[in-house]
Amino acid sequence: MGVIICQTCEKTIEHFDEEKVTTLYATCNTCTCSKDHKEK
Ligand SMILES: [Zn+2]
Repeated sequence: MGVIICQTCEKTIEHFDEEKVTTLYATCNTCTCSKDHKEK
């Protein structure tokens, strides 16, 4: 099983079928800021 995790808020965005355990990092729709931007 694979999961896509938001790199900003660490929420699980999506699960997908995979033979091995895979974790991918992305940014979910609610997180528009990236780590390069220091908003807070
Ligand atoms: Zn997020």
